[in-house]
Amino acid sequence: MKKPVRYLSLLPVYLLILGTILGFAIGGSRAVTVLSENAPVTNRKTVIIDAGHGSPDGGATSCTGVLESQFNLEIALRLRDLMELLGIQTLMIRDTDHSVYTQGSTIAQKKVSDLKERVRIVNSTENATLVSIHQNLFPDAKYSGAQVFYAKTTGSHELANQLQNAFIQSINHDSHRQAKKADGIYLMQNINCTGILVECGFLSNPNEEYLLRTDTYQKKLCSVIATTLSNYLFTT
Ligand SMILES: [Zn+2]
Repeated sequence: MKKPVRYLSLLPVYLLILGTILGFAIGGSRAVTVLSENAPVTNRKTVIIDAGHGSPDGGATSCTGVLESQFNLEIALRLRDLMELLGIQTLMIRDTDHSVYTQGSTIAQKKVSDLKERVRIVNSTENATLVSIHQNLFPDAKYSGAQVFYAKTTGSHELANQLQNAFIQSINHDSHRQAKKADGIYLMQNINCTGILVECGFLSNPNEEYLLRTDTYQKKLCSVIATTLSNYLFTT
């Protein structure tokens, strides 16, 4: 005899929930409007993930002999997976070890062609935001921490500041770094969209280089980048 009594006592609650659902269903248009606002078919934002360098250009060489291009690709692929998980459309400039040159016979010529092709891909993508992944290197091994650079385009400085601060709050607690202008970086100087370049850490610092080779640290880095990017995209 206890069960019916319990169900009966909850009846007003069920009726309230049912009434609310029916109210939305009959009212109709508001629920449909919200859904369609959240899933626009056109003008979708795309995050372009650029893994710096790529064969035959390995970039810097770490203190244990690992090429920068390999760090960049691993981190870029993890970042892509996270961004997709957050429902953000991505475009990888490269997802293999190879750079994207279209002409040239010497390494120098291929490098020029590769950079031009990266600019072409970025500038031909609508509603794009670029995040370029690189690693730092310095003769003095004591330096560490992520450094964010920004293009001169609208929004880039703001996004770079947000990410630099997010790194300091999450994984680079001792860092006093500030976002810097991407002066002299061909890709960043020639793009039309919002863009940042992230030097994730120093390949010349043995502790950081070790961390950068681990799954755990790469995941941490990518979760900081992905959440900052996603916050930025949803608030602009
Ligand atoms: Zn680089």
